[in-house]
Amino acid sequence: MPTSTAVPAITPRRLGLLRARLLDWYEAHQQPFPWRDARDPYAAMVAAVAAQQTQMPRVLEIYERWMAAYPTLEALARADRADVLRTWGRAGYPRRAVYLQQAAQRCLDQHEGRMPRDLDALLALPGVGPFTAAIVRCFGFAEDSVAIDTNVVRLVGRLVLGDLQPARESSPAAILDAATRLMPRGEAERWNPALMDFGAQVCAAKPRCEACPLATLCAARPRFASGEVAEPVRAQGAWAGSDREGRGRILAALRASESPLREAALLSDLDAGGAERERWERLLTALVADGLAWRARGRIGLGTAPVRAPVRARRVAED
Ligand code: SF4
Repeated sequence: MPTSTAVPAITPRRLGLLRARLLDWYEAHQQPFPWRDARDPYAAMVAAVAAQQTQMPRVLEIYERWMAAYPTLEALARADRADVLRTWGRAGYPRRAVYLQQAAQRCLDQHEGRMPRDLDALLALPGVGPFTAAIVRCFGFAEDSVAIDTNVVRLVGRLVLGDLQPARESSPAAILDAATRLMPRGEAERWNPALMDFGAQVCAAKPRCEACPLATLCAARPRFASGEVAEPVRAQGAWAGSDREGRGRILAALRASESPLREAALLSDLDAGGAERERWERLLTALVADGLAWRARGRIGLGTAPVRAPVRARRVAED
């Protein structure tokens, strides 16, 4: 349960030192991710959505493949859903690909084909939460938006609130308040990635306090130095036999086939012993509800059902 709800005062001197040291660190260690300098709100949205629950080297790989296939909002909005899901491939949590396409379609329908700049309009797009909206505003529009991912929660919660495991111990409101106070005005494009990268590389789950340039300014440092440890955040459940693994197996079979599969044959492949038929049925139903697959007349396919051409009215010859 969160315990830290109030943000202690940060003196102007400490604030100045924190900012200067963190930006110096970033200058020396920044990673050249293409969306950070592109000033392209669509590219920023793709990167932010790809970054959810994914390590950065993997994000870069997804981002490059995605932008090569769909370089613009319009290209993505008009793409075939099955192709979109094949482009996403095995990157995990494929609903993210559906959300990206639905967001692109919304931009075409409601925002004249452009990403909105307004925070509420961004938050109304499918799959866009506070982190993605902040990244779009920061890298896409150079707005002073505060982007908070798991690395930033950990770093800010330790640095300012003195919590060792902020994901569990700090309230989200206190993290947002502290992160907002830390941000230097007009520097969001450097400041946000500096926090994210520093949280990933230095103030990691197991913090490297002895090599940390912020150590003398950090509220959690004395606690770590006295031997306290950050209790691990709850680990993910086992992959084998999980619903995520099952969904992944179904989608892999659908991606691998050029044409829709017979549902009965697919179920037999997935459930050779026939003991888990109900579970596989449930997973298929959920994939259809999520816009990842369609089923009709005993067949199941990737993406959304193909649109059937209308039957042409027979022309009556009048000779
Ligand atoms: S001193 Fe340790 S806990 Fe504090 S910011 Fe640096 S790495 Fe994180």
